[in-house]
Amino acid sequence: MVLKEEKLDRRSFLKGAAAVGGAAALTSLVGCDTEEPGGAATARPEWMPEFDEAADVVIIGYGGAGVCAAIEAYEQGASVIVFEKSPIADGGSTGCSSGNIHTAPKSDPQKWVEKIMRGSFDTVDQETVEKMVAHAMDTPDWFEKVNIPVVWGEMGTESVTRPASSSGRMTGYDGNEGRFLWAGLNQAAEDREIDIRLNTPVTDIIQNPFTKELVGVVVTEDGGKGAEKYIKANKGVVMACGGYGGSPERQYQYNHPGIYLWPWGTPYNTGDGFDFSIRAGADLWHLDGCEYSAVAFRLASEECGASVSTDATAGITPYNHIFVNRKGERFMNEAKSMNHDIESKPVEDFSSAESDFINLPFFMVFDQTMFDAKPLYIGSGRSNIINTYAGVWELCDWGPDNSKALSKGWIFQADTLEELAGKIKGTTPAKIAVNGIDAEGLKASVAAYNQYAAAGEDKDFGRRAQNMAPIETPPFYAIEMTVSNINTQGGARRDGDCQVIDTKGQKIGRFFSGGEFGSINGFVYVYGNIFEALTSGWVCGQNAAKLESWDPDNVY
Ligand SMILES: Cc1cc2nc3c(=O)[nH]c(=O)nc-3n(C[C@H](O)[C@H](O)[C@H](O)COP(=O)(O)OP(=O)(O)OC[C@H]3O[C@@H](n4cnc5c(N)ncnc54)[C@H](O)[C@@H]3O)c2cc1C
Repeated sequence: MVLKEEKLDRRSFLKGAAAVGGAAALTSLVGCDTEEPGGAATARPEWMPEFDEAADVVIIGYGGAGVCAAIEAYEQGASVIVFEKSPIADGGSTGCSSGNIHTAPKSDPQKWVEKIMRGSFDTVDQETVEKMVAHAMDTPDWFEKVNIPVVWGEMGTESVTRPASSSGRMTGYDGNEGRFLWAGLNQAAEDREIDIRLNTPVTDIIQNPFTKELVGVVVTEDGGKGAEKYIKANKGVVMACGGYGGSPERQYQYNHPGIYLWPWGTPYNTGDGFDFSIRAGADLWHLDGCEYSAVAFRLASEECGASVSTDATAGITPYNHIFVNRKGERFMNEAKSMNHDIESKPVEDFSSAESDFINLPFFMVFDQTMFDAKPLYIGSGRSNIINTYAGVWELCDWGPDNSKALSKGWIFQADTLEELAGKIKGTTPAKIAVNGIDAEGLKASVAAYNQYAAAGEDKDFGRRAQNMAPIETPPFYAIEMTVSNINTQGGARRDGDCQVIDTKGQKIGRFFSGGEFGSINGFVYVYGNIFEALTSGWVCGQNAAKLESWDPDNVY
């Protein structure tokens, strides 16, 4: 609703500005043509900053959703600027993903609607899901329209919670992984000479305090260290800035207090969309959707700022190892795949008495046989090895064997288990230093496990016989482990037009959202995340580009 009649005095403006979005609005006061007391109306309302640049459609984030939004808005004849936080066009999590584009079962879209509804436990209204499935049906045609060569297959129809099989591959590139998908998408944007500003995070939104429409964004140059610039969005703003896998703080607040799942995806996805959405008055949803992936090496992950994970998702090989907690006790089947897991698991077991998670920190204990066999971390970016951001961008120099990790202090070594227990160090989520673990507990755990390995039956955790090998050859080793995540689904609620919805169920004008942030997947991703990013991306771009430009002379 446009409140044309309403006049703001400076006091009520300041109140409004604070509610609208702090920095942007307040800074706008400094830059605007101030009004003389009792004087004539100014050309530019006080809440509106002096814009440095303008484009019809302004896009936050150059990943899967952002690139499709940009291409479609461009195809619709709109001028476009994309702002990307990363200094390189890495494609965000899309660019380091496994690249499986799950396609709609064209034969039975209704079944897909049902699966999404079921996998979301009724957190999404049917109309939104139906619209998104209908858009998904059009996605192959959209790729054809914009001349991006993809070979599509069909998604299996039997899986309830997951896309059963994958399909969709960018032709003309060597492989079926996210980096090849990204190479094709990036090329299509480059061919169109779309204006992409790397190393330029969006740091705020600019909202009309009366209509609540988004009219622009604030960016901070030089990776957030440089000058602030005010960018006008004539038609709309597309929020395509990914999830919050790269933010410990947000995971602590929204998912697991104290437990950080290191991102398999880009560390630049720190959930900045929450700031924009909350300031704009958006409703939030799907914060519980945060999926585990393989276990990772904590200190290496910390050094790289992203998950340095074991390449295996179904257990680490060879099998001469167990995981233990600070009591030296095993607590889970170490060969269990954590991939796409969402259930709570033993690493999250909490003790009220200790006010801490009893199985964190946890350590992999292994022997010389395993140390000698191969590097614990092989990296990724090669065929048949799981992609991760750290792998694709080669952030971790583990070396050809485990000696570098040992010399860096990531791996602890000792001649006996007792001595090893005393050397192990870590920190609990409640920030209590662990200087040594229980030696008796460790010795008992290894002895019991070795018996299970010999007998071919793990009586405690059901680890399969073929996944057990003894821990018997000294010296012995330990390394602190951690957990990783594939994706998050939480963010701003959106409707089937990919428009952001406020807490009263109303659309927020000119504010569109695509991709993983505020995914329509309510819990697990049934509507494949990449497919959603691509589909919601082009829908955002189209719907934003089709709007009439707002009129700066008529903004009260
Ligand atoms: C290793 C891995 C494998 C996966 N495999 C699959 C798979 O096979 N199939 C599947 O469906 N899904 C998969 N997923 C999930 C899927 O890849 C992602 O959910 C999806 O690609 C996210 O797309 P997006 O466009 O929302 O975000 P992204 O592609 O991550 O793009 C978001 C971009 O926004 C940028 N950004 C963030 N904040 C700002 C800001 N303030 N200003 C400007 N830019 C900003 C980021 O730097 C990033 O480039 C996988 C994920 C990972 C990590």
